[in-house]
Amino acid sequence: MSLDLDAALVRLGHASFRPGQREAVETLLAQRRLLLVAPTGGGKSLCYQLPALLLPGTTLVVSPLIALMQDQVAALAARGVAASFLASTLAPDELRERLARYGRGELRLLYVAPERLASGTFREALRRVPCPLVAVDEAHCISEWGHDFRPDYLQLGPLIAQLSDARVLACTATATPIVRDEILTRLGLPGDTPQLVRGFARPNLALRATEVSGGRERQQAVDAALRETLVEPRGGRGCAIVYAPTRRAAEQESERLADGGWRAEVYHAGLGAASRATAQERFMSGGLDVICATNAFGMGIDRADVRAVVHLGPPGSIEAYYQEVGRAGRDGRDAVGVLCWSQADLPLRRHLLEQPLGAPAPSPELVEHKWALFLELIRWAEGGSCRHDAILRYFGDEAETLHGCGRCDVCLALGDESGTGADAVDLARRVLSGVARVHRRYGLKQAVRLLRGETEERLERDGLTRVATFGALRDRPADWIARALGRCVTAGWAGFTGDERPVLLLTDEGRRVMRGEAPARWLPPPAQPARSARRSEARRAALKAAAEPADDPLFEALRRERIALARAQGVPAYVVAHDRTLRELAEQRPGSAEALRAISGFGGRKVEQFGEAFLKVIAAYAA
Ligand code: ADP
Ligand code: ZN
Repeated sequence: MSLDLDAALVRLGHASFRPGQREAVETLLAQRRLLLVAPTGGGKSLCYQLPALLLPGTTLVVSPLIALMQDQVAALAARGVAASFLASTLAPDELRERLARYGRGELRLLYVAPERLASGTFREALRRVPCPLVAVDEAHCISEWGHDFRPDYLQLGPLIAQLSDARVLACTATATPIVRDEILTRLGLPGDTPQLVRGFARPNLALRATEVSGGRERQQAVDAALRETLVEPRGGRGCAIVYAPTRRAAEQESERLADGGWRAEVYHAGLGAASRATAQERFMSGGLDVICATNAFGMGIDRADVRAVVHLGPPGSIEAYYQEVGRAGRDGRDAVGVLCWSQADLPLRRHLLEQPLGAPAPSPELVEHKWALFLELIRWAEGGSCRHDAILRYFGDEAETLHGCGRCDVCLALGDESGTGADAVDLARRVLSGVARVHRRYGLKQAVRLLRGETEERLERDGLTRVATFGALRDRPADWIARALGRCVTAGWAGFTGDERPVLLLTDEGRRVMRGEAPARWLPPPAQPARSARRSEARRAALKAAAEPADDPLFEALRRERIALARAQGVPAYVVAHDRTLRELAEQRPGSAEALRAISGFGGRKVEQFGEAFLKVIAAYAA
C-alpha cells in the first residue's frame, strides 16, 4: 500500500507528505473512519484526494465553500484528475451535464455544496454510483455550538447511514472537544472514531500579545509591526493584514496607513461586491502593502507571503485568532502575529454576545459557551508561558509542542536576565504546591484562600490551615494569585476537572515543576496588569534580526511569470506554482524539462503546461 500512496502523492504534484498526512491517510484506509483536526491550509484536502485516486468509485466531498471547490476542481483538472462540483450557482443545464458525468462513473471526485444533498436527482444518482469515501469538509458546520452552523449539514447523518460501505473522513480546523464530540454524534460515527489533531505548530510565526490602554498604543503596535516586517512601502517584502473589530475601525486604520504612505485598502462585508473584489484582487496580485479588514476577509485567501497579521482587538476565541493569524507566513518564512487587547474588550464582548447586532438574542447557554471561549483567548493573551506551546496545548496537539518556541514575546522575555530567575521558579513552586493541596477537591477560590492564608471552614476541617503551604503567598493580593493560577493552566501545569463544579488538578508536568525536576519556564503576572509590552534589549535585537532582505530578482521574475500564467489559464496563482516551488527554481535554476521534474511541486503535467515558460525566464536571467 505504501508504494501506492507515494505514487498517488506524486500524481497530485507533491514531493513528500507533510507531517501527519500519511498517518491520516493510513488511519482512514485501515480504520475507515477519521476525524482530522488541522488548521486551514494544513493540507487536509490531500487526505481525501489521495484515497480518492486509489479507491474505485467516486469519492464525495461535501464543502460549503464554493470558491474553494472551484479552485480544487481546477487544480485537480490541471493534474489530469477527473473532478467536478455541484452547487446551486450553476445553470440548470450545467448541473444536469455534471450529474450525467457523475452518473456514468466518469469522476474520481465529486464536490457537493450542502444544499445539494436534499436534491432528489442527486439522491437518485447517488444510489447508482459506488462511493468509497465521503469527506466532510468544514465538519464543524454541523455543530450548533460552532460559529458556522449550516442546517443543511444535518442531512449528512442520514446520507452517511445510507452509504454504509463508504469510509468517512470529517475535516475541520475547529477543535474544541465539545464541537468534536458533536461532529461524531451528528455524523453517526462511533465515539471511539480515531481523531488526529495535527499541523497546528507554526514555528515560523512569532506570536505576541500586547495589552494596550487605548487607540494610540494600537496604532504604535501596527506601525512597529509594519516597519519590522515590510520595512517600507513598496519594499517588495510581502504584505500585511490588519484585522479590526468593526468596519468603521477598519476604514479609519486604512486611511491612517494610507496617509502614512502605505498602499492600504479596506475590506469588509459592508462594501459593494465590486470594491471587495478589487481590494482582494489588489491584495492577491501584490498591489498592496497592507489590507485593513474585518473577519469577513480571509476565507480561501492563499497568499503565502503575508509577513504580519495585526489584530486591533481580540476575536471571539483562540480558534478564530489562530485561524486569522495563521494567514501569516504560509511560505514557511518568518512572520509576525500581534494581538492587541485591553481590559475594555471584556465588557464589550460580553455585550456583543448578549445582544448581537441584527440578530435575535441567543440562548443563555450559547452566550456562556461563547463567553468561555473568549475568556480562553484572554487567558492566553495574559499568559506567561510560550504562546506557541500554549495554543498547541489548547488544541490537544501536545505532540508538536516545542518546550518554548524561542521567538514569541514570552520566550524572548524569558531569554533575558529577568526570565526564569530564582524568584520566578520559587513563585511557580509555591503556587503549584497550593494546587497540589486542593488537587481534585477544590476550585480556584479555595486555592487562592489557602495560598493567601485565609481561614475558612472547609480548609480547617481538612487540616489545610496547618500545612506549610497555608499562607505561602500571604503577601500577594488574591487577584494576583488567581492570575498566577491561570498562567499555570496555560503552561500545562494545572488544569480543571469535574462535571458540576470545576476543581483544580495538578498535571504530571506541574508536579515535576513543583518538585524542581522540570524547568519553570514562565513569567509570573506583573504586580499591576501590564500597561504595554516590555521592550528589552534582547527583544529589540530579535526584532531587527527578523527583518528580511529583499527577495532576489529571479524569484520576482518567476512570480511575475506565474501571475501571467495564472491569468491566462483563469486559475489562482497557487495552482500554477507555490512560492516554495518558485524559490527552489530560483535557487536550482534548472535548464531543462528533465531538471525541472526534480523540483518539488512540479508534477509531470505541470512541466508540460508551464515548464517552458519558467525555463525561458530562468534562461533570460542567466543570459
Ligand atoms: P486545508 O484543506 O487543510 O485548509 P489544503 O488542503 O487546501 O488545506 O492545503 C493547503 C495547500 O497546501 C494547498 O495549496 C495544497 O496544495 C498544499 N499542500 C497540501 N499537502 C501538501 C504537500 N504534501 N506538499 C506540498 N504542498 C501541499
Ligand atoms: Zn514561545
